[in-house]
Amino acid sequence: TRDEEASAKLAATEANTGAPTIFDKIISKEIPSDIIYEDERVLAFRDINPQAPVHVLLIPKLRDGLTELGKAEARHEDILVAEKEGIVDGFRVVINSGPTACQSVYHLHLHVLGGRQLKWPPG
Ligand code: ADP
Repeated sequence: TRDEEASAKLAATEANTGAPTIFDKIISKEIPSDIIYEDERVLAFRDINPQAPVHVLLIPKLRDGLTELGKAEARHEDILVAEKEGIVDGFRVVINSGPTACQSVYHLHLHVLGGRQLKWPPG
C-alpha cells in the first residue's frame, strides 16, 4: 500500500545521518560478526537478519566518505545510467546468478532498478 511505501521510505531516510555506522565497528571487530572472507580491502560477513538462506554483506573496508552508491564518482557505468535516467535519488543494483536467482540471459549483466519506491526484501 501507499502507507507502507511511505513508512519504508521514512525509515530509510532517517537512517541516513552521515555518522559512522555499525559496519565501522564490524570492520574494527568492536562488534562481532560471522566473517566469511576478509582481506585488506573488503570484508564479507553474514547478514544478521538474512532474507534468504545465504545472505552475505560484502563491504569496502575504507569508508572514504562514500556512504551510498548514488554518491560514487560518475565513472561507473551504473551511476551514469542512474543519472541519465533521473533516479539518483534511489535505485537498486542487482546481479542475478543462476536459475535459483532467475537469471534468464547467460551473459553477465547488472540490473539498475528505480523510478518507484522499492520494497525490501525482493522476491
Ligand atoms: P535494511 O536494513 O533495510 O535491510 P540495508 O540495505 O542498508 O537496509 O541493509 C543493511 C543490512 O545490514 C540489513 O540486511 C541488516 O540485517 C544488516 N545488519 C545490520 N546490523 C548487522 C550486524 N550487526 N551484523 C550483520 N548484519 C547486520
